[in-house]
Amino acid sequence: MLFFKKKKAEPKRPLGLYIHIPFCVQKCKYCDFLSAPADDAVKKRYADALCKEIAGYKELTKEYELATIYFGGGTPSVLDVSLIEQILDAVKRSFFVDMAAAEVTLEVNPGTASFEKLKRYKELGINRLSIGVQSAKDNELAVLGRIHSFEDAKKTVLWARDAGFDNISLDLMSALPGQSLEDYKENVEEILALNPEHISSYSLIVEEGTPFYSQYAEGMPKESELPDEETDRTMYAYTKERLAQAGYHRYEISNYAKPGYESRHNSSYWIGTEYLGIGLGASSLFTNARYHNETDLLTYMEEAEAGKDVRREIERLVQEEQMEEFMILGLRMMCGISRAEFQKRFGKPIETVYGSAIKKLERQGLLVIQGDVIALTDAGIDVSNQVFVEFVPEEFVRR
Ligand code: SF4
Repeated sequence: MLFFKKKKAEPKRPLGLYIHIPFCVQKCKYCDFLSAPADDAVKKRYADALCKEIAGYKELTKEYELATIYFGGGTPSVLDVSLIEQILDAVKRSFFVDMAAAEVTLEVNPGTASFEKLKRYKELGINRLSIGVQSAKDNELAVLGRIHSFEDAKKTVLWARDAGFDNISLDLMSALPGQSLEDYKENVEEILALNPEHISSYSLIVEEGTPFYSQYAEGMPKESELPDEETDRTMYAYTKERLAQAGYHRYEISNYAKPGYESRHNSSYWIGTEYLGIGLGASSLFTNARYHNETDLLTYMEEAEAGKDVRREIERLVQEEQMEEFMILGLRMMCGISRAEFQKRFGKPIETVYGSAIKKLERQGLLVIQGDVIALTDAGIDVSNQVFVEFVPEEFVRR
């Protein structure tokens, strides 16, 4: 009798999935993300278009399994829950995913939350919420143009706990107009009192094209209302120190977590796992190509509905670019990069490519080498952009 040995299934490759929801109740004054208000008919049409785009990936991703799903925006929580359900159903039809094992995150704006909504998210398999609190002071929230109060944010966190969420991230902003160091310290205490598992902390950046730009940018009137650079740096240093005391470790330049609650989705960007971005303007890194989706809403919806390719600017990454990304994204993580991993991926020792840059940064006290690991020092984190430039080929650096 002949016995045929069953071929062992190849393990699938991990893949991250980002789903962009480009709608908000109103535009915040500092925001340059691809988002805008829209009516219910547009939201429904967009969800249908997303599902079409998702279906188009079924054949291409047979070798992969989703490790993470991330609904970002915009404001994903502005969508009716039935649309989130529709999108997740499309994801489950097209990708291999074990919803119990995957990290499934949804960004929530406290001004759009309710207990019933959060409970439904949990039932749908969403297991992590990222809540945009930003500040604990209503006057600061009003200056930012946020649609919610701090009381709304607190209620949202309580509802999330009642709905069964045990993995919650809160966003906190610093260096806000008119904000003193004491104000910021009070905000940090209020955030800690909510006991989240994860905190993302960012200082306000005045981006061109936002209402804040004309109000606060260099040379514009009212510039003095923004905290000066020294206060900004002090807030930054305080965040790290106070959060460490409270049991949150910094695992990336702007992100802090209790042990075991680091964002798996965001970490996958920094360690170079492949990811697909679905929806308006979303970016992907897939099969060594980087690309961005169409950024015009109507064009995106029409083309996705017609089953056309909505990808734009498809750029095949040559090895130099892959190495550059490995260094720059990997060094954002406090655990640093592995020399052995570099050798494995690129077939050569890291020193043969970046030896002189590494030595120079080590001499300057900005990088530290410990066995296999190369990581930023505290001083290196403070000037991380200056460090990263050392790994970019000279022809791309505008000096
Ligand atoms: S809620 Fe977020 S995405 Fe929407 S406008 Fe405000 S900052 Fe931008």
